[in-house]
Amino acid sequence: MAYKITEDCISCGTCADECPVGAISEGDGKYEIDPEKCIDCGTCAGVCPIEAPKPEE
Ligand code: SF4
Ligand code: SF4
Repeated sequence: MAYKITEDCISCGTCADECPVGAISEGDGKYEIDPEKCIDCGTCAGVCPIEAPKPEE
C-alpha cells in the first residue's frame, strides 16, 4: 500500500519536505510518491493544502 498524488497537485513541495522516508520527489508537472518507499503514514495528505495525496485503494 502507498499513497498516490493526484493530478490536482500544484507542485508546492510541502509534502516532500515532511515525508519521513523521503518517498516524494518532483515529477513531470506534479510531485510523485515512490511506492517502494512509502510507509502509508498519511503525513503528506495532512500537510498538503489541497489534499492531493490519496491512499491507494
Ligand atoms: Fe511519505 Fe507518509 Fe506520504 Fe507515504 S504516506 S509518501 S511515507 S508522507
Ligand atoms: Fe502537490 Fe500537495 Fe505535495 Fe504540494 S503538498 S507538492 S500540492 S501533493
